[in-house]
Amino acid sequence: MTEENYDIIGYSRLVRLNPNVPWKTRGNGALSIRVGTGKGKKTKMGEIGDKEIFCYPKKSSENCNDNKIKKIVELVIDKHAKLEDENTNPGFVILQKRPSLGTYEKAVREIVSLEEIEQLLKSIGADYKGYKNCRGLIGATAAIAWYPAYDKTYELITYRQKKSWGTERSVDDSSVKKMDKTCSSTFDNYDYKNRHNKLVPNSPCPILYGIRGEDIEDLIMASSLVKSEPVDSWIIFETNQGTDDHLQKKSIDKIKPYQSVIVEGSLIQSPHTIKGGHVIFTIGNNTTTDTVDCAAYEPTKEFRRIVRELCIGDVVEVYGGVREKPLTINIEKINVKYLTKQVEKVENPVCPNCGKHMKSKGANQGYKCKICGITSSRPIVKEKKRTIRTEFYEVPVCARRHLSKPLKRIHDKQKH
Ligand SMILES: [Zn+2]
Repeated sequence: MTEENYDIIGYSRLVRLNPNVPWKTRGNGALSIRVGTGKGKKTKMGEIGDKEIFCYPKKSSENCNDNKIKKIVELVIDKHAKLEDENTNPGFVILQKRPSLGTYEKAVREIVSLEEIEQLLKSIGADYKGYKNCRGLIGATAAIAWYPAYDKTYELITYRQKKSWGTERSVDDSSVKKMDKTCSSTFDNYDYKNRHNKLVPNSPCPILYGIRGEDIEDLIMASSLVKSEPVDSWIIFETNQGTDDHLQKKSIDKIKPYQSVIVEGSLIQSPHTIKGGHVIFTIGNNTTTDTVDCAAYEPTKEFRRIVRELCIGDVVEVYGGVREKPLTINIEKINVKYLTKQVEKVENPVCPNCGKHMKSKGANQGYKCKICGITSSRPIVKEKKRTIRTEFYEVPVCARRHLSKPLKRIHDKQKH
């Protein structure tokens, strides 16, 4: 856009939307960019080839020419969109004014219909174009509607040279680990236990790697520490990643499929492992008869060991996306709020008459003194030490979702 005499205003935005939408694209993300005539001191936000890209903090009051912008965007989509892929349904929206934040909030938390978005776009005089099933218009509109009202992070995304597209990526793991330890304001870089480099995407897209973090200067430094194949371009995005924006507090009876919820309850069924290695438990509460299953699926790896430690009666606050059939919360993190006292048998009861240990009458049938005939149902017990504690636990980096706020972000904030 820069050669068309428009400046970029603010950082480009990468906005993630409802991760539970059944027909979503892989990352369910959308981009937005604000253009105009820049005012104030420009900042470097990236490089494309050997050209430096800048953005401005403010824009002058004059409006841009929508038609000119539309032509540029159309050219880009015609040239680069993979329209032959059945899951590629792009759309673009050009707006002089940002829609309400509520438009974004609905798109990140609920299901938004194409009809309501088209109605909104018509009513505010937007210039827009949808391709194929046109669902891209929903994300495009929501991406413009988002601004960091409450929270934000950044991602520095690097792109591969065109000749490497589709081939295996070369990013050195040990340099990523070093970067992870050096740049403390970055997050979700590397999963040490599962040896998973989270910087590198799984799809054959032109992205080489992305580093997420709190601070732009740190991200640029972090990128200089990562050893990789040649980087063609890089851009810094302002994002809603790692903010928990998708979550809403709900009571168990109000949970609906495709939402992401924070819900409190006590365990009414102990964790059990089902086929595929998934661990499931059930929670309920006193105010409703409704219950809901909570799952730590196999990809959450060692997180399942923590979940298995929970017992009936424990009170937990579960954070996660709601699957429809059967209604199940896919746990992203869990706040253990109360642990019940658990006891274990130490030895058989002692006869109050003769002082000798009683004998078991068989499984679950109590005890009896062989000498005096006195019976008892209760053995001598001691309190069992719980290995789980009343605190937050989260899935490992390898299983983390774009929108989930890592505990590192919560804890770092508390320190400052
Ligand atoms: Zn006795």
